[in-house]
Amino acid sequence: MKILEDLTNNAHELQEQMLEEILRRNAGTEYLSRFFPSGQADKLNFKTNVPIVTYEDTKPYIDRIANGETSSILFADPIIQFIRSSGTSGGQQKLIPITAESFEKGKYHLFLVDIVTKKCFSGPDEGKSLSLYFSKPEIETPSGIVASPYLTFYSKTDIFQSNLAKFCTSPIETILCLDNKQSMFCQLLTGLLQRDEVVQLSSIFASVLARATKFLEDYWRELCCNIRTGYLSDWIIDPGCKNAMSLILTGPNPELADLIQQICEDKSWEGVFKKLWPKIKYISSICTGSMSQYISLLEFYGGGIPLVSPSYVSSEACFGINLQPLSKPFDVSYTFLPNTAYFEFLPVNKDGGGKAQETRTMDKPVDLANVKLGQFYEVVVTTLAGLYRYRVGDVLKVTGFYNKSPQFQFVERQNVVLSIDTEKTTEEDLSKAITNAKLILEPFGIMLTAYSSYSDTSSIPGRYVLFWELKMKGSNDLPKLDAKIMEECCCIVEESFGFTYKALRKGGAISALELRVVKHGSFDELMDFYISKGASITQYKPPCCLKSEDAIKILNSAMVGKLFSPKTMFLSALSEG
Ligand code: AMP
Repeated sequence: MKILEDLTNNAHELQEQMLEEILRRNAGTEYLSRFFPSGQADKLNFKTNVPIVTYEDTKPYIDRIANGETSSILFADPIIQFIRSSGTSGGQQKLIPITAESFEKGKYHLFLVDIVTKKCFSGPDEGKSLSLYFSKPEIETPSGIVASPYLTFYSKTDIFQSNLAKFCTSPIETILCLDNKQSMFCQLLTGLLQRDEVVQLSSIFASVLARATKFLEDYWRELCCNIRTGYLSDWIIDPGCKNAMSLILTGPNPELADLIQQICEDKSWEGVFKKLWPKIKYISSICTGSMSQYISLLEFYGGGIPLVSPSYVSSEACFGINLQPLSKPFDVSYTFLPNTAYFEFLPVNKDGGGKAQETRTMDKPVDLANVKLGQFYEVVVTTLAGLYRYRVGDVLKVTGFYNKSPQFQFVERQNVVLSIDTEKTTEEDLSKAITNAKLILEPFGIMLTAYSSYSDTSSIPGRYVLFWELKMKGSNDLPKLDAKIMEECCCIVEESFGFTYKALRKGGAISALELRVVKHGSFDELMDFYISKGASITQYKPPCCLKSEDAIKILNSAMVGKLFSPKTMFLSALSEG
């Protein structure tokens, strides 16, 4: 593909041009000008003088713009609006400025993803995508600038409404409906009504597909009833949804209802996507990083349909795309796109096995041209829209190069998730330990559908607590919990943790790991809780570690069993090892 070859072959030059362009336009802003006292805004001075920052450092400028000062204190181009993105470490939502140009760059990346995927799966053009997109209410800053999640903004643009929406089964009114439940019902209903046209099932993040599947489990009877009678449920009161559905749900269709009922009545939902949407070719949804916990669930429901993790994106910038859509979810690498922003990479200390006992970043970032194969980095971004040497907070590992553009595997969010004493466990450590442990559940037909954790320091010594949502493969029944097997899971998790954990645990500074099993659907309640606090369903990332007392309470109240790692077993395993 010529366009991609040009981009990646000229990666270094394009990055240089990108930085020059950003400095040419923005060096005179209040934020940047103080770092160029001599007026010479070149790459060398940029690297020497401009500090590497986090959102909190940029926030005073963003707040000033939100409160009525001109956006030119931060960047030269006019602001279109703010994108509301995932929370900061303090739990606050971030406001990221967007300009016409930064939006164009985002569009370009979507266009590339589309070409790459279409090349891989011949003819998706012939059908439609059941894309589950949701909106949140827009808010206005005191100065009247609109702020909304990216997808809410994007769904309202001409490019989406006049082009892409045609390929989606969901009418635009259902995507714009602000009530997530009505929106989900209508989107699934239209997806079922058009079942013979659906070639792709998609969402931005895999958590939404997991939620949609649970919703389908709870509502398939009602959906079938709507299809059978041709009448929309009377709790769908959103005028946009009602209007759009009246054009699609035009009359009774008992044959289709019978067919869907027969599929959903099957005790096992293995491969249910393929049965419901017989022409489906692939599932497209980000399933790396914290989303990897949904892989087994989606593989189970997909029954062999490829699971494509298309891109690595954030509200701040588009980083890269997956050039090998068919690679296994755990092997996915993203090729950086050098024309979307200026990227730098802070080397991250990790030992050879990638076990992050300490993910302290060193202070000298390198350019995209100088990253080394096998090395871990935290990505730092500079954009036309006012982010300068901004730490995104994601740790990546270089896995290869496509022409001159590096390819990265997503490793984890930079922050430590669990900590007691001097022990620190990262998102990746936790995910690996749980992946090891859940293997022993598989032969018993038990699926781990979601997990989270927290450091319980209410007693001394403290302990790590894991929440696991479990269900049987063929049904939503809660598995019979065999204490021995569950205790072994605890042991495997503890054994998979790093040296410091084991040493502190052996020395008694950390108590036995606790595993709390919660019933099916509990993590949906957790998601509802975060959505009620302002999170967007489309951008929702399940928290690997809970900081909120209320969130912990929600999972505790859904607990159906708890176990501890047996001390003796662990200690003997330790001494053997
Ligand atoms: P948001 O700020 O809500 O737009 O979310 C952006 C964040 O989502 C990124 O900084 C990553 O932590 C995460 N993310 C985005 N794309 C991926 C991906 N492909 N794999 C893993 N995590 C991702």
